[in-house]
Amino acid sequence: MLNRSVPSFFHGKASSERPFCADCESPMILSCLEPDKPGFDLRTYACLMCAATESIVVAVS
Ligand SMILES: [Zn+2]
Repeated sequence: MLNRSVPSFFHGKASSERPFCADCESPMILSCLEPDKPGFDLRTYACLMCAATESIVVAVS
């Protein structure tokens, strides 16, 4: 008999939160992703409707 624990299914964090444009409330797309300080990424989102951009720093785990 196999006596080892196997995860029944793999569920990772679905942390694909996308901001909404502050001006026109359209969903923004990820236009740039670059490393920030260790353990963090700098994500730049862009709005396709009014060309506004927003940069946020997110922790990568
Ligand atoms: Zn916009």
